[in-house]
Amino acid sequence: MSLPRISVSQSPESKFQEFLRSRPKSQRYTDQQREMVRFIFERHNHFDAEQLIDDMKRAKCSISRATVYRTLKKLVEAGLLRELNVGPRTFYEHDYGYPQHEHLYCQQCQKMIEFQADEINKVIEQVCLEHNFQTQGHTFIIRGLCSDCNRARVNKRRLDLI
Ligand SMILES: [Zn+2]
Ligand SMILES: [Zn+2]
Repeated sequence: MSLPRISVSQSPESKFQEFLRSRPKSQRYTDQQREMVRFIFERHNHFDAEQLIDDMKRAKCSISRATVYRTLKKLVEAGLLRELNVGPRTFYEHDYGYPQHEHLYCQQCQKMIEFQADEINKVIEQVCLEHNFQTQGHTFIIRGLCSDCNRARVNKRRLDLI
């Protein structure tokens, strides 16, 4: 399940191309990178580098592991992707063209559930104002167990008691 997209004037591919051109040493936009950006922006999800490499391999996209890691970093710098650090893993998701939202993270099945809450934004706005702090974004992740995993755990406990 994903939130409705925000309409943007530029495609992710052309925005990334612009970013690469703006670098001190203008960088080439390779066919591999183009393929990777297209692949990532086909659907919204939360993925880590290894998952992406597996998925791309399955889709017959040939790209080196080093290029994937390097390009992911650049996509974050370019404002196209957002990084979510959960314990030892780093997840990525679309930032460009996607609304601000928060996450519930299930530590059992690694599911990410998205939600939006105006109240959180109001508190952040207020705190920043109090500290005269200029915000450039935030990451808010609630860790725990999703309803499926919680149910499975309760059922298992019940079975253990019989
Ligand atoms: Zn779960
Ligand atoms: Zn998300």
